Amino acid sequence: MPIAFDNTYARLPERFYSRVHPARVPEPKLIRVNRELATELGIDPDWLESEEGTAVLAGNLVPEGADPIAQAYGGHQFGGWVPQLGDGRAILLGEVISRDGKRRDIQLKGSGRTEFSRGGDGKAALGPVLREYLVSEAMAALGVPTTRALAAVATGETVRRETPLAGGVFTRVAASHLRIGTFQYFAAQEDREAIQLLVEMAVARHFPEASEEENVPRALLEHVLAAQAKLVATWMGLGFIHGVMNTDNMAISGETIDYGPCAFMDEFHPQCVFSSIDQGRRYAWGNQPNIALWNLTRFAETLIPVMAESADKAVALAEESLATFPDQFRKAYGDVFRMKFGLGSRMSDEEVRSFTRDALAVLAKEEVDFTLFFRHLTRVAEGGEADALTHLFRTPEAGVQLLARWREAGGADVQAMRRANPVLIPRNHRVEEAIKAGYEGDFDLFHRLVEAWADPFG
Ligand code: AMP
Ligand code: MG
Repeated sequence: MPIAFDNTYARLPERFYSRVHPARVPEPKLIRVNRELATELGIDPDWLESEEGTAVLAGNLVPEGADPIAQAYGGHQFGGWVPQLGDGRAILLGEVISRDGKRRDIQLKGSGRTEFSRGGDGKAALGPVLREYLVSEAMAALGVPTTRALAAVATGETVRRETPLAGGVFTRVAASHLRIGTFQYFAAQEDREAIQLLVEMAVARHFPEASEEENVPRALLEHVLAAQAKLVATWMGLGFIHGVMNTDNMAISGETIDYGPCAFMDEFHPQCVFSSIDQGRRYAWGNQPNIALWNLTRFAETLIPVMAESADKAVALAEESLATFPDQFRKAYGDVFRMKFGLGSRMSDEEVRSFTRDALAVLAKEEVDFTLFFRHLTRVAEGGEADALTHLFRTPEAGVQLLARWREAGGADVQAMRRANPVLIPRNHRVEEAIKAGYEGDFDLFHRLVEAWADPFG
C-alpha cells in the first residue's frame, strides 16, 4: 500500500460527510511534489512522482486504503450565517500517521463536484493551486503553524471562471480539517451527540493533554483560544493578512488554513486588506485579533450543551474562558514584537507594547515597507549603516528619530532579531508572476520561488 491510510473521520456517523469519487481529468501533469513532506508522511516521493502517483494526485486513481469523502460544515462568512457550506471543491482521501506520530489529513482540492458544491464546478484553476502551494510552504518555513502542500498537478482541463483558465489539483495536508464551522454545522441542528464526537476527535488529534481535564470541552476551548491567540500574533508579526477569516476557515488545530486572498503587506498599514470583497475592512491586518475572538465566541457557543449540566453554568464558564483571550493575544503579540525589535528582557511587556504601538504608527505614516524595515533594523543591530533603513521612510528624518528611540529602548538582541525578521517573504507580485508564467506552461519561476522561500531567514 503506497499510502498507509488509517482513516477515522470516514468512520464517524454518515451525517458528518458525503462519500464521493474524485472526477477524472483528461491529461494529468505533475507540477511538483513536496518530497520532504511525502517522506515525513511515510510516502515514497519517487512513487508519488511516478505515473501512478500522479494519477492519484490528479484524482484519476483512488489509492488503496483511501475512503474519499466531502466533509460537512457551515460557517459565518463575513459575519453572515450559512448553515451548510461543506467541501464543495475538496475531497478528503484519508488520514495517515506521519513519522512524528501525528495524524494528518490528505485532501485533494479541485477534484470535482460533491454534495456540497451548490452551483460550483468543484474544480480549481491553476492560479489558486500555485498560490496555495507557494504561500503555505513559505508560511511553514517562516515557522507559522499551517496546512502544507504535498503536490500540485495540472489537469489538462479548462475551467470556466471570468475567463477560461487551465485547471489544477492541489494536495493539502493538514493536522485535521476540523473547523469552527464543523462544530457550528451540528450545533445549529442541536446535534449534541455530534458535538460530543467532534470534541473527542479534536482533543485526541490536537490537544491530547486536554483529555485529562475534568471538563474536557472547556479544556478544548481553552487550548483553541491559546493556539489562535498565538497564531494571529505570529501572522501579525510577519505582516500577514489572512483575508477570509470566516469561521469555516479557522481550524481547531491552530493551523493557518485556506489561502485565498491572503497576502503579506508591503507598506505597513493597520487597515490593509487584500480581498476586494472585504469592503468593510473586516479582515484588515489590525482587526484580525478582534475577528479571531468573534469566531472563537461562535466556537464557544457550540460547546454550551456539552460544557455543563445547566446552560447558565456553561455560558458562565465559556465567558470566563473567552475573557482571557485579549490578554493572551496581547502577551503573544508583545513577545513577537519584543523579538522583532530585539528589545531583550529589560522592558516590561507593557513598555514593549507601547513602543511597538508608537513605532508602527510612524511606519504607517511614513509608508514604510514592513519586512524591509525589520530586516534593515536587524542589519543596524549587527553594526551596519543606518542609511538603508532611514531611506525606507518618506521623510528620512522620521527614520532617524525612530532609530534614536529604538536605541534608547535598548534594542540590540541580534539573535532574536535574525530569527524574527525574515529576509524573504512571499510578496504578492512575485506570486502573481509565477501564476502568470504557470498559465503559459512555464513553472520555472514557481519552482525557484518554492526553493527560495524555503529558507526565508537567509
Ligand atoms: P472558500 O471561500 O474557499 O472558503 O469556500 C467557501 C465555500 O465555497 C466552501 O463550501 C467551498 O467548498 C465552496 N466552493 C468554493 N469554490 C468552489 C467551487 N469551484 N466549486 C464548488 N464549491 C466551491
Ligand atoms: Mg474555506
